[in-house]
Amino acid sequence: MDDDFKELGTQVLEWMNEYRRHVHEYPVRAQVSPGQVRSALPRTPPDCAEPFASVMRDLDETIVPGMTHWNHPRFFAYFSANNSVPSILAEMITAAIGAQCMSWETSPAATELEQVVLDWLRQMLDLPATFRGVIQDTASSATMVALLMARERSTDGRFAREGAASLKGGPLRVYASAEAHSSVEKGASLTGFGRDNLVPIPTDERFALRADALERAIQTDAGNGLQPSAVVATVGTTGSTANDPLDEIARICRKHRVFLHVDAAFSGSAAILPEKRPYLDGVEQADTFVFNPHKWLYTNFDCSAFYVKDVALLTRTCGIQPAYLQTRHDEDVVNFRDWGLPLGRRFRALKLWFVIRMLGVDGIRQRLRRAIGLAERLAARVEEHEDFELLTPPTVTLVCFRYRPAGASEPDLDLLNRRLLEAVNDTGRAYLTHTMLAGRYSLRLNTSQERTTEDDVLESWRLIERCARRL
Ligand code: PLP
Repeated sequence: MDDDFKELGTQVLEWMNEYRRHVHEYPVRAQVSPGQVRSALPRTPPDCAEPFASVMRDLDETIVPGMTHWNHPRFFAYFSANNSVPSILAEMITAAIGAQCMSWETSPAATELEQVVLDWLRQMLDLPATFRGVIQDTASSATMVALLMARERSTDGRFAREGAASLKGGPLRVYASAEAHSSVEKGASLTGFGRDNLVPIPTDERFALRADALERAIQTDAGNGLQPSAVVATVGTTGSTANDPLDEIARICRKHRVFLHVDAAFSGSAAILPEKRPYLDGVEQADTFVFNPHKWLYTNFDCSAFYVKDVALLTRTCGIQPAYLQTRHDEDVVNFRDWGLPLGRRFRALKLWFVIRMLGVDGIRQRLRRAIGLAERLAARVEEHEDFELLTPPTVTLVCFRYRPAGASEPDLDLLNRRLLEAVNDTGRAYLTHTMLAGRYSLRLNTSQERTTEDDVLESWRLIERCARRL
């Protein structure tokens, strides 16, 4: 097989090039039904090696039609999972090297490159020099690690040794806005805080956490013998990209000695733009911060940048030193296996390095601004339209709106918009998702896909109008 690598690799590269050139011709959201792909595949593995050509044929005939195309220019759903030429090239090299980067000794260059590129990113987002970065697979893992750090700090390290028995002073409490991502609830549950100890804080008319309500909740808990432990603030909520007021939240956390984690999974990338950096004002007072280059920094999934101030607390929380992992350089190097949940780690820094070098900070800024402009112009169209309603102004690239024809009653609107979403997505010509905002069913159209053009947004808007008229 090694002898054929160049020949097969060239064919794969050609396939990738054709896929990228024609991706806009596929239905954006897969139009298959549940079980359809599985039933087209053999139930048992092949005994004998199969020719490469037949594997590629099945890729074209069975797998690709069963995929939702996240790098399609009309992928407006969820938040984007952008890739880019530099990132794809680096992923191929990473695969060829095939390293497992748990420790400095198993991957000196990968470890040190990770330190360098995360410091570049820190500078790009204007984060404080006291923040040290590490790549996690996802923001969900990073938030879980942050909650583990908070738990260890609140119990002076006793939870890791004694488990729940260490909670003599009553349950530890976590606070996040009612709009925070579900990974906070999952994290609170899996790290032993318990779902019931996640306190949802009400939001204001822009769906941002209300600092006065946060302070009251912390005071009430403390007065009732509960232990306020951590706040998770969000910059760019999943529903509507609302930004919690970090500065005020940080002041409350300092006053009550509560750990502060900032989840900027999507909108964090926007802080590379000086005009959007104010969203992060106050982040310098946070204990930990996460954002996802795999969402809006043109870097293949997965790649989540996690920053911490107290590295000693992090490594006390996640570090483990079995004899077989110890090496002679341990005193002098960073072993990233002690900075997160898994032992084994992919070489993710390479793709970030390629992206930052080959796009340049200016090139990244241009792309971010272009995507924001697309959303702003669409929001203006929605606002002008008498049958549509903008539900909140976009902060970056997400437009939240609903169809609201004259005479439709409030209870009918949810059903109408649900039907509109399915009608648009069933065409395969665009892919949107939804959220609930203040109890109202809202369509979400996010324009951060790198290849989305003004025409893609305009034609998708016309498609939405057409589908709405036909309901
Ligand atoms: N936080 C926010 C605000 C998100 O919007 C998301 C996903 O969209 C996440 C966290 C989870 O990201 P990940 O898939 O990297 O865990």
